[in-house]
Amino acid sequence: MKIIIMGAPGAGKGTHARDISEKYDIPHISTGDILREEVHKGTELGKTAKTYMDSGRLLPDDIIIEIINKRIREDDCKKGYLFDGFPRTIAQAEMLDKVTDLEAVIYLRCSDDIIIKRLTGRRMTTDGKIYNIYFDPPPEDVEVYQRDDDNEETIKERLKVFYDTFGPLMDFYKKKGVFSELKGDDRREIVIKIIFQMLDAIAGA
Ligand code: ADP
Repeated sequence: MKIIIMGAPGAGKGTHARDISEKYDIPHISTGDILREEVHKGTELGKTAKTYMDSGRLLPDDIIIEIINKRIREDDCKKGYLFDGFPRTIAQAEMLDKVTDLEAVIYLRCSDDIIIKRLTGRRMTTDGKIYNIYFDPPPEDVEVYQRDDDNEETIKERLKVFYDTFGPLMDFYKKKGVFSELKGDDRREIVIKIIFQMLDAIAGA
């Protein structure tokens, strides 16, 4: 299965992507996670990425396209993949279109007030568990950190960049007949149930 999950920052892409990846046994490819790993390792790519990420801007397409081209050639991608945070521009979508046929593009639509609370309240553990100080506070003995780009100024820029770039991408995938929109505001269990129903129908088709 080849899928994209799209949505504004904080729409829940990463959370649902992990569940989808597990159920359908396909790798979850998050460009944000790949870049954060490079930043963490202190590589040249990581140093470049950090300047963009800290200000909420997108990295140049050629860098992202190279990362994806390399990643999808790995063995685990033979059975499909799930992209999260990619593509973010038409150039990236066109590159992907040349190398693959997508089965579904799922857009999680969320209201702004929920998004702001999810992002400003988001705290995570080093092994990837996500808490939220408003909705799901971490237990006192659990050590959590905040993503460098989850501060108010960068969040504003990330949201602006998302809404500036999303329209053309939505049109691109609508024309291909693979675009579906879901309400991402609801509780995690409700949203993932709907996603699974949709993907089960595609997988069984
Ligand atoms: P979010 O959707 O929460 O903003 P991501 O983890 O997907 O976060 O991305 C974090 C940052 O990484 C982005 O703000 C951007 O700087 C960079 N990035 C991730 N994916 C891409 C991409 N496909 N194209 C360009 N930049 C990207």
